[in-house]
Amino acid sequence: MRFRRGASIDTSQVSDRRGLGGGAPIALGGTGLVGLLIFLAVQLLGGGGGGDGTGIGSPFSLGAGPGQATEQDLSAECRTGADAEQRQDCRIVAVVNSVQEYWGGTVSGYREADTVLFERQVSTGCGAATSAVGPFYCPADATVYLDLSFYAELSQRFGARGGPFAEAYVVAHEYGHHVQHLLGTDQQVGGDRAGAESGSVRLELQADCYAGVWSAHAERTSLIEDLTDDDIAVGLDAASVIGDDYIQSHFGGGVDPESWTHGSSEQRQRWFSVGHDTGDPRRCDTFSAAQL
Ligand SMILES: [Zn+2]
Repeated sequence: MRFRRGASIDTSQVSDRRGLGGGAPIALGGTGLVGLLIFLAVQLLGGGGGGDGTGIGSPFSLGAGPGQATEQDLSAECRTGADAEQRQDCRIVAVVNSVQEYWGGTVSGYREADTVLFERQVSTGCGAATSAVGPFYCPADATVYLDLSFYAELSQRFGARGGPFAEAYVVAHEYGHHVQHLLGTDQQVGGDRAGAESGSVRLELQADCYAGVWSAHAERTSLIEDLTDDDIAVGLDAASVIGDDYIQSHFGGGVDPESWTHGSSEQRQRWFSVGHDTGDPRRCDTFSAAQL
């Protein structure tokens, strides 16, 4: 993945709250909120990874107290595609820009969603969350939340090849959830939240498909100059290590499709490929698909 060196980065789409994660614990929310957060937050890890949602239920938020901490401004560091080539955070901003440029020209009435970079813990419109839940999209505030340490984990714990396009795939997947929210597709999940054919799996596979659709058009957005077959292979590799079956077996459990929330490695790769190969979001209708 190569960025156009002279193309401008729009940092207004990303808030940098790294370094603000150490706030004092404050009680927040009730059980209903926590339940909602578990569903909405565990978009990538699916409650797998040996994780039991550690920290999801912890009632804390950022201290609002005598705060010296303020949000960082990325605009000084991330100016052009050349900065995206050098720095991971600038690269994420550039990918966010590219993904939203594509969807803005594709979905009528598209409204931009911010990404918040955080470390360790963050308060969101869906409640408080820790990094343990992995990257997620919160519909209540239409925001993507991302702790960049997830990417190291993807390589080190999950065994992904990693690399810039693995990072981009994760961002594009989360923006797929934003598109679903704008279109109302997320309403179709209802209470059908686990199992190989569940609404949750269909929602997740559609977000993978949307990530693939973006990748098909990425070189026609202003910031991305080149995506290679190897980039796509890196994205598929990342999709495979966060498949429910891979996670269950990799972390020493039995493979149990009844508990799936995101789909198998093979399914996640397949639906990303459907999006990438067709470039057509209408082909991402996982809710009608007879076979996932
Ligand atoms: Zn997801």
